[in-house]
Amino acid sequence: MFVPPTPHGRKARRPYTRTDRDELLRRVDLRALASAFTTLNPGGHGRCPHPNHDDRNPSFGVFRGRDGIERFKCHGCGWSGTAIDFVVAMRSITMGEAFRYLEERWA
Ligand SMILES: [Zn+2]
Repeated sequence: MFVPPTPHGRKARRPYTRTDRDELLRRVDLRALASAFTTLNPGGHGRCPHPNHDDRNPSFGVFRGRDGIERFKCHGCGWSGTAIDFVVAMRSITMGEAFRYLEERWA
């Protein structure tokens, strides 16, 4: 059977689809997840928990986008992303492992 080659310049496929990812990320409580590593105020701000950022100010914030997905951003070191990016950095695991980690907790 002929298998067409991967389109030129395409990255390797992720171990999950974009739809599955977005559906999971809408369920994940990123504030609760981040609160295991830093203290967030009622507005969702706190010191950046990234291991390479010795933050002394509340530079880190969690917010929910119009797409219903929570994201984080640190104005001190520029680190930003979704719960998957957060878990990848905090637990030193791959994106596929982070996806499964979140899926188990927010099934
Ligand atoms: Zn930071």
